[in-house]
Amino acid sequence: MRVTGEDWSRLGDGADRVAHFIGHRAYMKMSGEHCAALDLRRTVGGKPEFFCTVYEQRPQTCRDLERGSAQCAGECMAKRGRVTRLMA
Ligand code: SF4
Repeated sequence: MRVTGEDWSRLGDGADRVAHFIGHRAYMKMSGEHCAALDLRRTVGGKPEFFCTVYEQRPQTCRDLERGSAQCAGECMAKRGRVTRLMA
């Protein structure tokens, strides 16, 4: 995913941890099959869930995908199997 100059500035001091330059363009880093900013945790009830470690500073593309929208739900449905694999 592209990271604009504005995104990079918003990511602040942590930008290098989750984003990098390839040539003259910046992108989010990947960790395995997913964004490097994504991590796993367990809810109070013990269920595994993904969370964004840079949520407040996330790139504009992520901001445009409204949480709970039909598009968001579609992404969750398509990728929910990854949680099980990653927690194994
Ligand atoms: S919301 Fe966070 S974890 Fe998800 S793609 Fe964007 S930066 Fe990565």
